[in-house]
Amino acid sequence: MRPESLFPFFKPVTSINGIGPRIAILVEKAAGAHVIDLCWHLPSAIIDRRYAPRVADARPGVVATMTLTVDKHAKPPNKRLPYKVYCSDDTGKIALVFFHAHEEYLRKNLPEGEVRVVSGKIEQFGKELQITHPDHIGTADEIARLQAVEPVYPLTTGLTLKVLGKAVRASLEGLADLPEWIDTAYLAQQGWKPWRDALLEAHGPENEAALDPQAPARQRLAYDELLSNQLALALVRVAMRKVKGRAIEGDGALRTNVIDALPFKLTSSQEEALGEIYEDMAAPIRMLRLLQGDVGSGKTVVALLAMLNAIEAGGQAAIMAPTEILARQHLATIEPLAEAVGIGVVLLTGREKGKTRQAVLDKLESGEATLVVGTHALFQDDVGFRELNIAVIDEQHRFGVHQRLTLAAKGRAVDILVMTATPIPRTLMLTAYGDMDVSRLPDKPAGRLPIDTRVMPIERLGDVTQALKRSLDTGAGIYWVCPLVEESEVLDVAAAEDRHAYLKRIFGDVAGLVHGRMKGKEKDAAMEAFASRQTRILVATTVIEVGVDVPDATVMVIEHAERFGLAQLHQLRGRIGRAEKPSTCLLLYAAPLTGPAEARLKIMRETDDGFRIAEEDLRLRGAGELLGTRQSGLPEFRIADLGVHGELLAAARDDAALIISRDAELITERGQALRTLLYLFEREAAVRNLRSG
Ligand code: ADP
Ligand code: MG
Repeated sequence: MRPESLFPFFKPVTSINGIGPRIAILVEKAAGAHVIDLCWHLPSAIIDRRYAPRVADARPGVVATMTLTVDKHAKPPNKRLPYKVYCSDDTGKIALVFFHAHEEYLRKNLPEGEVRVVSGKIEQFGKELQITHPDHIGTADEIARLQAVEPVYPLTTGLTLKVLGKAVRASLEGLADLPEWIDTAYLAQQGWKPWRDALLEAHGPENEAALDPQAPARQRLAYDELLSNQLALALVRVAMRKVKGRAIEGDGALRTNVIDALPFKLTSSQEEALGEIYEDMAAPIRMLRLLQGDVGSGKTVVALLAMLNAIEAGGQAAIMAPTEILARQHLATIEPLAEAVGIGVVLLTGREKGKTRQAVLDKLESGEATLVVGTHALFQDDVGFRELNIAVIDEQHRFGVHQRLTLAAKGRAVDILVMTATPIPRTLMLTAYGDMDVSRLPDKPAGRLPIDTRVMPIERLGDVTQALKRSLDTGAGIYWVCPLVEESEVLDVAAAEDRHAYLKRIFGDVAGLVHGRMKGKEKDAAMEAFASRQTRILVATTVIEVGVDVPDATVMVIEHAERFGLAQLHQLRGRIGRAEKPSTCLLLYAAPLTGPAEARLKIMRETDDGFRIAEEDLRLRGAGELLGTRQSGLPEFRIADLGVHGELLAAARDDAALIISRDAELITERGQALRTLLYLFEREAAVRNLRSG
C-alpha cells in the first residue's frame, strides 16, 4: 500500500483549484493525470521579466516589464483590425495591441489616465513600439507578486502557460517534505539539497544555467529517479533469486546430434555464449541471462541448444516470441532440427483455439510435449507445465519485466534466457535489466558480406525501379518498406497499398503485400509466398521489422527513411545480408531533411555495427525516445536523461547494490524512506515483493 504521506501527490489534477474537467484533459496531455506529474513537469525555458526599461530605451524583440500611463483606448473600425491601447511614460509612447478584444475587460484592466505595469515582448511596428497581447497587466502591487523570472513549461495545443504555470505552482504549494532516501554522505558530497527544496528550485530557475540537466537540483531529482529504477530492478532480482534454482545438466545426447545436423559450424561467440549458459544452468541458482546479439547473429541456435540441455535433463522448455509471425518463424527453424533428434515441437499462439489449443495444453501439462514455441499466449493462466525448466524469451524489446516474471512463475525456479536483437547501449541496458548477466554474440556468422547502403531522394524512384529490375533478373528477393504515417496504421496501410499497386503495374504478380491490418492467415500466406519465391518483391509496413528470415532477400528499399528512427532502420536492414550474397539497402528520403534525419541516414550509410548505431541513437535522441520505449518495456524517465546522466546511473546502481547487501528488506530507517521513493516513482511492483515493514 502506498504510504499515506504520498496520497496528496497522487490526487487527480482536477483536485487542484482552477482545473476543471476540460482543462484537466489538456493538463494530462502535457504533463500527466496526477499532482505528482505536475511536480515532475520541469520548465524547459525561462522568461526573464527583470528587464524594466523606459520606453525610449526599450529594445524590440526582448521581454520587458514596463511601468506605463494608460493614455487612450482606440476601438478599431472593424473586427478584423486590432484594438489598441496607447500608453506612455515620460520618455515615449507604446501601443498595446489586442486581437479579438473584449473592450469591457480591457477598459477594466487598463483604465485611461491610470498607471499600470505591463509585461510582454516589445515589438517594432513601423515607427511604433508595441506589445501584442501582453503576458501580464496589473497594478504595481500585483506585478510585484509575479515571479521576476518566469518558468516556461512544455505545453500542448489549447493550454496556455498561464494556466499550466498556475497548476504547477498549486501542485507544489503545500508539498510535504519526505524523509531523505539518499545516503547522507553522498548527499553532502554532491552538495544536493533535500528533495522538496530541490524540486522547488528546479521549478524556480533564476537563469538559463538552472535549466541544464546538470544543474544541482535537476541532478538530484534525476538521481532519485534512477535510484528508484535501479533499486526496483535489484529487488526483483533478489526476489527471483530467493527461489533456489536447480542444477540442470543434460547428457549431451540431443545436442551432439543437432550440432552434427547443422549445415554450419557454430561461431566461437556462439560457443562461448553456450558455455556461459550451460554453466548457469548447472549451477543451483536460477539463470537470469541476457543473450544480446545483432540481427542475424544466430541467437536461435543458441536458444535451441540451451533448451535441449534442459530436455536432456528431463525437463520442458519454452521459447516465446513477441509476434505470431516470429513465433512461426522460430517454429520453422527449430522444428526440423528438433524432430531430427526425436523431439516434437508444439505451437501455442493466440490463434490456436478450441480443441487444438486444448490438445496443446494437455501435452504441456502431462509432459508429453517437451518443447513449446509460442507468443504471449503462453502467459495465460490455464497454461501449465509438468516440469518447465527453461524459458527463452525472444523479446526484441516488446515484453516488460512483469511478463518475464509471469512466465518464470509457471515452473519451479525456471531458468530464464532473454534474447534481444536490438543492441542496447550499456546505460540503457542497466535501466532495463539492472545487473543481469549478459552473453554477447558480437560477430556475425561466417561468410556474411557487408550491406551496401545508399541514400537517395525519392525523386529517383524511376532509377530505383530500373535497378530493381536488374536485381530481380539476378534472382534477388526484394523488401520494400513503406513509411510510418503519423502513427496511424490505417494511413500506413493505405501508403503500402498504393506502393504495391504501383509496383504491380511495373513488375506484375511477383509483387506481394503484407501489412499490420491483415488477418494472421493472410499475413502468413504473404510471407510464405515471399519465402518460397512465388512473390519476389514484398511491400510491407513495419510488420516485417521483427525477426523474419528470408535468406534470398538481398535488397531492401525503405521509403521515407527519414521518418524512421535509427534503431528501426538498423533492425529493418538486418532482414537482408543474411545470405552469402551481397545485399543492397536503398534509403529513399523526401527532401528537405532535418538535421537529425540527415545524421541518422549518414550513420546508416557509414556503419552496420549495431552497437555503434545504438550509441549514436542514444546520443541523437536521448533515451526517452530510444527504441520507442513506450511499447518496448524499456523504462521511460521523467527527469533523468541517460544521454547526460550516465554517471548518476552508475552511482545509483552501486547504491542499489549496497542497499540490497545491507538492508534487502528495506526495514531500516533509510530503507523505509527508500520504500517511499519507490512509491513516489510508481514502482510499487518492486515493493510488493517485500514483507510489509
Ligand atoms: P538472430 O540472432 O537474428 O535470431 P538467427 O538465429 O535467426 O539470428 O540466425 C540467422 C541465420 O543465420 C539463420 O538462417 C541461421 O540458420 C544462420 N546461422 C546461425 N548460426 C550460424 C553459424 N554459426 N554459421 C552460419 N549460419 C548460421
Ligand atoms: Mg532470431
